[in-house]
Amino acid sequence: MTERVVVVGGGTAGSVLANTLADEVADEIEGGDVEVTLINDGEEHVYKPTWLYVPFGEKTPADAKRPLADLIDRRVELLIDRVSAVDTDAKTVSFDGARSDLAYDHLVLAMGAQVTPEETPGLAEGGHHFYGPAATEELREALAEFTEGHLVLSVIGVPHMCPVAPLEFPLLADTWFRERGLREDIEITYTYPINRAHGIQSVAEWAGPLMNERDVNVETFFNPERVDPDEQVLHTVEGRELSYDLLVSIPPHEGSDVVRDAGLGDDGWVDVDPATLEATNAEDVYALGDIADLPTSKAGSAAHYAATSLADRLASVVRGQRPTTEYDGKTVCFIESGEDEATYIAFDYESEPTPKPPSKLIHWSKLGYNQSYWLTARGVL
Ligand SMILES: Cc1cc2nc3c(=O)[nH]c(=O)nc-3n(C[C@H](O)[C@H](O)[C@H](O)COP(=O)(O)OP(=O)(O)OC[C@H]3O[C@@H](n4cnc5c(N)ncnc54)[C@H](O)[C@@H]3O)c2cc1C
Repeated sequence: MTERVVVVGGGTAGSVLANTLADEVADEIEGGDVEVTLINDGEEHVYKPTWLYVPFGEKTPADAKRPLADLIDRRVELLIDRVSAVDTDAKTVSFDGARSDLAYDHLVLAMGAQVTPEETPGLAEGGHHFYGPAATEELREALAEFTEGHLVLSVIGVPHMCPVAPLEFPLLADTWFRERGLREDIEITYTYPINRAHGIQSVAEWAGPLMNERDVNVETFFNPERVDPDEQVLHTVEGRELSYDLLVSIPPHEGSDVVRDAGLGDDGWVDVDPATLEATNAEDVYALGDIADLPTSKAGSAAHYAATSLADRLASVVRGQRPTTEYDGKTVCFIESGEDEATYIAFDYESEPTPKPPSKLIHWSKLGYNQSYWLTARGVL
C-alpha cells in the first residue's frame, strides 16, 4: 500500500520538508511505496525577509519570489490550489475549487501566518507596514517623501513573524535618514507591548542601549487599541496617546480558519507537541513553521530546522520504523543594526541567545544568506 504524505503550504516550512523528505525516501517514491504531494495556493514561493529591504530601495517584491515549480523536487507532486478544509476523521483535505477531496495517510500543515491590520480600528487607513508585497512598496513611497516629523514603529500584539524585524526597521531607518542628512529633523520612536524592548530578555538588554545610542525613543507596555488616522494619534489600551507623522506597524497576526474549523487549535494556530510536531488533537497530522503553536519565534530558520527534523521522522514513519529525531527549537536570526552592521541570535527551547557586538562581516553574511536562501528552500543547504 502506498503511504500518502500531503503537505499544505509551499513556504519555507512546506518546501524544505517536501524536498528533504523526497530526497530521504527517493527509493520508496521510485518503487511506488510513498507519494509526497505539496499544495500551495499560488504558483510562487515567497521569501518574506526580502520585504524588510524594499522601503529602503534595496530590493523589490519581485526579488522575493521564485516559481515553486523551479524549487520543488521533481519527485514531489505539486498542486496549485487552496485547501479550504481538513477532515481529520475521514483523513481528507478539500479545496476551494472544483478539485475532488484528497486523501492522506500523513498530513503536514505549513500554511504560515496572515497579517490582519483591519483588526485594529484605523490602522489600515492610518498606518503602513512592510509585512506584505504591496504594503512594503507603499511604505517605500511614504518613506521617500518623509523629510521631517515623527516616525513611529509600533509592534501591535504578539505573536508576529520574525522576532527581530521590528527592531531592524528603526535601526535601518536611522541610518537611512542620516545618510540623507535628514535625521535631525526626524524623531524615531519604537513601541513594544511588554515592559521591555523585546520579548527575549537578552535581546531587550542588547537593543535598549543601542536604540538609546541611535537616538531612537523606546516606549514599552504600549498596546495600541485604535488609530485615529485624521488626528494621526495612536491610542493604547493603557490609556496613552502618541502622535505620529508616519506610522509603521507590525500588524496583528492570525493563523488559519482551516485549523480552527478542523478543531486543531482554537485560535487558528495548530496545537502541537514541540519535539515531535504532532498535532495534539488528531492522529497523523503534523504542523511546523508559523502555523504551529510552538514555544519559539515565528521565524524562517525555525521553520527550516523543524522541517528537516520532521522529514527525518516521516521517513521513519513511512518505512514502519519508530521515529527518533526530535526538534529542539533551534532558531537562528540575523539582526540588521544599521550602519551596514548586523548581529545574530541563536537559541532553542532550553537556551536564551546572547547577541554578539554588531559587525560589517555579519551584515554581509546576512545579505549572502538571503542570496543563497533559494538553496535552503530546495532542501540543499
Ligand atoms: C518582513 C519580514 C521579515 C522576516 N525576516 C526574517 C528573518 O530575517 N529571519 C527569519 O528566520 N525569519 C524572518 N521572517 C519570518 C519568516 O518569513 C517566516 O517565519 C517564514 O516565512 C515561515 O515559513 P512558513 O512556511 O511557516 O510560512 P510561509 O512562508 O508564510 O508559507 C506559507 C505558505 O502556505 C500558503 N498557504 C496558506 N494557506 C493555504 C491554504 N489554505 N492552502 C494552500 N496554501 C496555503 C501560503 O500562500 C504560503 O505560500 C520574516 C518575515 C517577515 C514578514
